Amino acid sequence: MLNENKITKRKPKTTISVTCISGAQYLPVGPTYSHTVTQIHEPAKLLAAITSQSHHLDEIVYFFPWPILLLPLYFHFFTLTKAMASHQCKTLFHSISIVAVPNVYVSVLSFSGFLSLPLVLASANGFSEHTNFLHSEILKDEAVARLTELGKVSDSEEFLVRTFQSPASVRAGNLIRRWMEDAGLQTWVDQMGNVHGRYEGLNPSEKALLIGSHLDTVIDAGMFDGALGIITALSALKVLNIRGLLGKLRRPVEVIAFSDEEGVRFQSTFLGSAAIAGVLPVSTLHVHDKSGVTVQGALRKNSIEITEENLLQLKYDPESVWGYIELHIEQGPVLETVGLPLGLVKGIAGQTRLKVTVKGSQGHAGTVPMNMRQDPMAAAAELIVLLESLCKQPEDYLSFDGHCKASEVQSLAGSLVCTVGEISTWPSASNVTFTIDIRAMDNLGREAIIYELSNRMYQICDKRSVLCLIERKHDANAVGCDPELSSKLKSSAYAALERLSGEDPDDVPILMSGAGHDAMAMSHLTKVAMLFVRCRGGVSHSPAEHVSEDDVWAAGMAVLAFLETLM
Ligand SMILES: [Zn+2]
Repeated sequence: MLNENKITKRKPKTTISVTCISGAQYLPVGPTYSHTVTQIHEPAKLLAAITSQSHHLDEIVYFFPWPILLLPLYFHFFTLTKAMASHQCKTLFHSISIVAVPNVYVSVLSFSGFLSLPLVLASANGFSEHTNFLHSEILKDEAVARLTELGKVSDSEEFLVRTFQSPASVRAGNLIRRWMEDAGLQTWVDQMGNVHGRYEGLNPSEKALLIGSHLDTVIDAGMFDGALGIITALSALKVLNIRGLLGKLRRPVEVIAFSDEEGVRFQSTFLGSAAIAGVLPVSTLHVHDKSGVTVQGALRKNSIEITEENLLQLKYDPESVWGYIELHIEQGPVLETVGLPLGLVKGIAGQTRLKVTVKGSQGHAGTVPMNMRQDPMAAAAELIVLLESLCKQPEDYLSFDGHCKASEVQSLAGSLVCTVGEISTWPSASNVTFTIDIRAMDNLGREAIIYELSNRMYQICDKRSVLCLIERKHDANAVGCDPELSSKLKSSAYAALERLSGEDPDDVPILMSGAGHDAMAMSHLTKVAMLFVRCRGGVSHSPAEHVSEDDVWAAGMAVLAFLETLM
């Protein structure tokens, strides 16, 4: 099991072996015999080779120019080991060959006894800085500093709030754009206010990987929801940029900070991602907020002109997109409970909202006897208890014939969540209304639950002689994450945890997302995959929302590991 302790106590697993050779002749002075292919004569080129050809270091020979001088010897070993330590590829440590130029072979041998001292010193120095090799200064320190800075960009002085196209949202967009440029990306803002940063890579015509999350927040929000997914992606790209590896990406990579996911201002979620996915109805432009400003008007206020025609043009061509990944705080307690920082999202649950009205009669508490009463409140209570027990043990209620297969019941048992939201009585206690929220990964299973629940609810109402009305207010089908993309993302998360802990981590757990995310809208455009990051107490949409610094680091490392698979 990986915990914060283990991350901070990480140790490199590998050892350095240095082989000293003269010309074509191999004379090992270290514990390992090395073979060589590439010949390098200048220290600067060696460093470039280390940072750019990490996987081929077995093949590098470095021609050490003046082995008879101890000082340059120390310097060269120091530079070497520092460069090796600052690199994250563990295979790197296996094989660097230090080569004396021809004809000074004897000198090398005579100094071989001294080799160990500078090597040990240099190694110690290199390893003392091996946090570099894990890029903690970018993936952890800077990422946390940026999250904190972005968390202060708010429309209120008392709490964090950024709604669609509010002044703080525009400032946040500008800040994110600057960080995108710092990572070496080309940036622009589209006509729905989404902020884009893109690097074309080796093949600009290849299908692009999109990475995103949202820059808007709820009212009195925490600083990680949405922001974490944007900032970890930019940190990972910045690491590649600094290492000179951005140009090696085999396909374009684009980070998108979506302008609206929470839907606070216009009560309409996914304005940003739905526009990119091409599933935002054009009528949305005319939806207005509480003060009468339309979506179109809010954009115009920030000098962004959008018409119904160019909203349609915002849709990406599915042929130009390879896939979409999103990293988000879990907003639940599962990862904290199992003690792991990252979890793979299997899918985003489908959702149905029901409104139940129970009509009874307003019998006087003192005059209508118990056997003649039609108390809707007691009926509602029985309906709510039914909901709870049905969703806790769906297998006890659903029949295997007709409506539901055994496999659906089984998948339901793992993902089904049902709760009651608002409950009200009016007038007095004669009518009770309450809302039900049902979420599950399996769409057919969810339908089976709604069918069974409605039947049994009507039976209870008949028995109690009250009238019941069940209305369906909202439906959204579940979104399954793409198995292949998910498997790549899971391996990257595993690799990240392995790098940070220096040992084999526990397997990355698989979770279901009960909450909606931009990935839900993006699934209409391309295959999607998601990673969840542990948050304290499962708390979100609150200033108490918290992700530890080491978990931010693990998240950034996972994105980095994923990007490295594109090289
Ligand atoms: Zn979110």
